[in-house]
Amino acid sequence: MAQKTFWKTKKLNKYTPEEWESICTHCGRCCLIKLQDEDSDEVYETDVICRYHDCQTHLCTEYANRCKLVPTCLKLTPENIGKISWIPETCAYYILASTGDLPAWHPLKTKKPLPEELKVSNSVVSELLVPEEELEDHIIEDADDD
Ligand code: SF4
Ligand code: SF4
Repeated sequence: MAQKTFWKTKKLNKYTPEEWESICTHCGRCCLIKLQDEDSDEVYETDVICRYHDCQTHLCTEYANRCKLVPTCLKLTPENIGKISWIPETCAYYILASTGDLPAWHPLKTKKPLPEELKVSNSVVSELLVPEEELEDHIIEDADDD
């Protein structure tokens, strides 16, 4: 069972699996399709979301098999969280790893659901509906500038 304010007292690599999972707000931003410029390596975020993201529940429908089904789906760990250049600045893991605390809006602090404006699900389209050649038209921002 997770301790009430474990994120204040424990190092990331000492979290139980349950505590680690509870940090995810299910905002969906890491599930947005990203495009990388072959020449500059620059990463661009699109408003197209992975086919396995359920926009109603905000959950991955293939969570257990996600890394097999989607090779680019990254499993966040205490070891890699500080090394991923494209991780959204609003990702709770990123904020926790870089500041040592959760943001004020985090559900573990507020005891309320994540604010709607921090979820991507309302303004995205599934990759099932977007042909690969049209992905560039869906670029919304430079993920490195997050
Ligand atoms: S497989 Fe699941 S967790 Fe991975 S990007 Fe797709 S929706 Fe997100
Ligand atoms: S960006 Fe971070 S908090 Fe949001 S769904 Fe992905 S892992 Fe969870």
